[in-house]
Amino acid sequence: MLFKEVVGNSLVKKQLTDAVKNNRISHAQLFSGKSGSAKLALSLAYAQFLNCENRTAIDSCGICSSCIKINNLSHPDLHLVLPVLKTKTVQSPVSDHFISQWRKFITNNYYGSLNGWIDSFGTENKTGQQGTIYKDEANNIHKKLSLKNYEAKYRIVLIWMPERMNLETSNKLLKLFEEPPKGTVFLLVTENANQLLPTITSRLQTLKIADFTTEDIITYFGGETLSLERAKHLRNLTNADLGKISQILDDKEGELDLFSDFSDWMRLTYKMDVQGISNWVDNLSLKGRKQQNIFLSYAIKMIRECLIYNFASYSLLKTNKNELAFLTKFSPFIHEENSVFIAEKLEESIKAINRNANAKILFFELSLQMVKFLRLKRKFALK
Ligand SMILES: [Zn+2]
Repeated sequence: MLFKEVVGNSLVKKQLTDAVKNNRISHAQLFSGKSGSAKLALSLAYAQFLNCENRTAIDSCGICSSCIKINNLSHPDLHLVLPVLKTKTVQSPVSDHFISQWRKFITNNYYGSLNGWIDSFGTENKTGQQGTIYKDEANNIHKKLSLKNYEAKYRIVLIWMPERMNLETSNKLLKLFEEPPKGTVFLLVTENANQLLPTITSRLQTLKIADFTTEDIITYFGGETLSLERAKHLRNLTNADLGKISQILDDKEGELDLFSDFSDWMRLTYKMDVQGISNWVDNLSLKGRKQQNIFLSYAIKMIRECLIYNFASYSLLKTNKNELAFLTKFSPFIHEENSVFIAEKLEESIKAINRNANAKILFFELSLQMVKFLRLKRKFALK
């Protein structure tokens, strides 16, 4: 990965390349950014830049043997560490067991999230594991670092989602973060820096990775694909998550379904049509966890839009024609008395889905709560 292949983030790129230029390379660098931000892509571009045999002041060459190997994630001095699961065949898992699976996951989408990675285990993950970096991994790192570098100037240990290290792992690595062997650089890539132990973060140099801007999103998908309006809409819908936006754009029918799924759901719950609700739940349960999460995020946005529409009679989200027609009719049923409850329940449901909750039960219960919420009358009249 070249720096120029990562859209936006010019400030962070400059900080990293300046550090190399001025010989102030931090031996333990934390890339902290939200799910779907550029943190992993930037850390890989940095690893490549550090070891490029022919770099310029601002980027690696992309064609030397080191660049090619790092780009393929196959360089012998690039050690990848990631949260893993116990499966039927692997009872004491470390990253090396799952490295080809991760390589495939991440090269399809450098903006993939921890949830996306856990999802890729499918039915292998029967017990709803969230992914852990176990102490065996720390032992493994110690072992690898006791050997000499194979060929690289800088041996890289890239820890993806270090917040999933358990206490034992963290304690075993503390000293290494403070004083790694010569020529070793730790790159830690987190989407939840506040879950890291303070004893860890105090030993790292933190780089905050900003959210992608609307312009970044348009650039990434190549100018003509997205209008400004649509890019803004997708950015709001996904909280600037490039991974989710790619999924939505890959699945055009899926996006069309969002609005009809949502408006059907509101109609059925308002009418208390139990049979209709049951069919609707069956239909949504058949979709994958990713789609269910995207649907719930969409529902949260629409509920907020209703509230805004009530007060301002216009939409902040440049909604499309169908959505606007729906808001006009439906927004009176969403108000300050029920919107908070609804948004909370939807947020909780996203978390439950991520914990592998039974989708059928979850969406049925959520629908019954929605019936109740939609019947809550507001205490005072607005107009
Ligand atoms: Zn190169």
